Amino acid sequence: MCGIVGYVGKNNAVLKLIKGLKNLEYRGYDSAGIAIYNKNIEVVKEKGRISHLEEEIPANLVGNVGIAHTRWATHGVPSKINAHPHLDNHKRFAVVHNGIIENYLEIKNFLEQKGYNFISDTDTEVIPVLLDYYYELHHDVLIAFQKMLKKIKGSYAILVLAFDLPNTILVAKNHSPMVIGLGYDGIYVASDIPAILEYTKDFYFLDDEESAVITDKIVFYNKDFEKIKKTSKKIDWEMDETSKNGYEDYMLKEIHEQPSALIQTLNGIICKDKPISFVNFKIDKKYLESLRQIYIVACGTAMHAGLVGKYAMENLVRIPVSVVVASEFRYQNPIIDNNTLCLFISQSGETADTIAAVKLAKKMGARTIAITNVFESSITREADDTIYTHAGFEIAVASTKAYISQVGIVVALALYMAETLNGLKYEALKTELMDLPKFMSDVISNENVYHKLALKMKDEEHLFYIGRGNDYNIALEGSLKLKEISYIHSEAYPAGELKHGPIALIDKGTYVVGIITDDKIALKTLSNLEEVKSRGANIILVTNQKLKEENVFIIPKISSILSPILAIIPLQLLAYFIAKEKGLDVDKPRNLAKSVTVE
Ligand code: GLU
Repeated sequence: MCGIVGYVGKNNAVLKLIKGLKNLEYRGYDSAGIAIYNKNIEVVKEKGRISHLEEEIPANLVGNVGIAHTRWATHGVPSKINAHPHLDNHKRFAVVHNGIIENYLEIKNFLEQKGYNFISDTDTEVIPVLLDYYYELHHDVLIAFQKMLKKIKGSYAILVLAFDLPNTILVAKNHSPMVIGLGYDGIYVASDIPAILEYTKDFYFLDDEESAVITDKIVFYNKDFEKIKKTSKKIDWEMDETSKNGYEDYMLKEIHEQPSALIQTLNGIICKDKPISFVNFKIDKKYLESLRQIYIVACGTAMHAGLVGKYAMENLVRIPVSVVVASEFRYQNPIIDNNTLCLFISQSGETADTIAAVKLAKKMGARTIAITNVFESSITREADDTIYTHAGFEIAVASTKAYISQVGIVVALALYMAETLNGLKYEALKTELMDLPKFMSDVISNENVYHKLALKMKDEEHLFYIGRGNDYNIALEGSLKLKEISYIHSEAYPAGELKHGPIALIDKGTYVVGIITDDKIALKTLSNLEEVKSRGANIILVTNQKLKEENVFIIPKISSILSPILAIIPLQLLAYFIAKEKGLDVDKPRNLAKSVTVE
């Protein structure tokens, strides 16, 4: 889940790597380090942010080859010792690693018996020590590298500097992303495209179990270490997509980008007076008629987008939909056969739990469709079909515009299936969907109102979010946003469920956020809000109804199928301003990382 960058070229690697790490800091940020090859392998590492590492780098550290890492700890606390790069006992190899080496204890015991020492608590340290062990046996770096890869199990993106191989980086990948870019002044390698996008647009994508040796050229190997040819792909993203563009934080910028993210996502899919269509992808009527059920599998915010998809699909298509948390999917013995359609949603396309679920569903005979924001990400290679969300880069750890785009896609998919199955045209809903970006901008422009309320709420210790139907799905996502960035404890409940237990927690002054966007159930939710109000709660309402309450955020009236796209915005901004008022780093909340590539 960390970020990795490497460079072999004509210029000073230190500057390139620090810049690359800063571009990747959203991937993990508890510690960072760098190794430079210049006659010797020099390592500098520090606990904390990249800026801290930068301060510690001596001015005389220069070299044309280097590797760097920003960590999201899985094994061992965030500390200088556990930070990467890790070295072997003879300082022959420096290694950065993203992922988890599952059999590290077995390897560690084996190497300890052979007399090797370990200084960190990480799983990663077995990699350089194992390299050294094989190097002692074979006196050949490449053989040692390949033997090491045969021995380790788990998920990894690995870069290695070897003392005996100047001007070279060794690369390996399994279940963790790694790209290699051809720049005008050298070859770049990274766990994520944005890290090196300012230097190159020509990318090679490594597949699982492939490896490479980078010098002034790249030699690729397959899993049996036979040389293979790979072709590069052009990525036409622009670098300013990854800058803050004048906003104080990425999160605020990305909230403001939501209307355009939705436009880009639906571009070409939904057009006036035309049936909905997806590029390179079709579901035919016969298949839909044979479908017994649909699974939507995802984690976190993407799972909340899946719940909105369930609401839309069950209402429009009338096929039962189960939304399952990806980490649970494999362990609940899912009922899947050829008549099951499985959708998998992952912003990064690298979410380990979701990818494992795709593999299982495929094996059991389901048709699999991935919904992701990242071109060529791992999930696109696992699923039968891919639908891209086109939200643009999302850098803030707490997802906003990717969520909106995911909701846009699942609703469009529901409409597409309904049109195909029922032969009906859903022009009114489609027009509403196309009009949404303008309404979204209006809701965002009320920023000051949310900010004012945030000032009153910043010292709260816990909060409740309630709603019914699709409003409950919005409550879940609003509550998650608040937890993620403000560290305030919050719970989302179906409005009618509160009185079956949790109402005991309502005290004088407890804030309860109610979401009411559906005429049919408005009065019911309102009664539930009255129940908590009469027990002393402070009410906040996000609604498209004319209701008299003290703190009401009014949003435009649209179909309940689409309402999450508008109703989530006040909740995102409320969470954002509360976190800002608490003085927190909204883009990099504690303990989190952007893409969760470990199970
Ligand atoms: N498992 C390794 C560690 O805990 C790598 C974690 C990461 O991906 O940042 O150091």
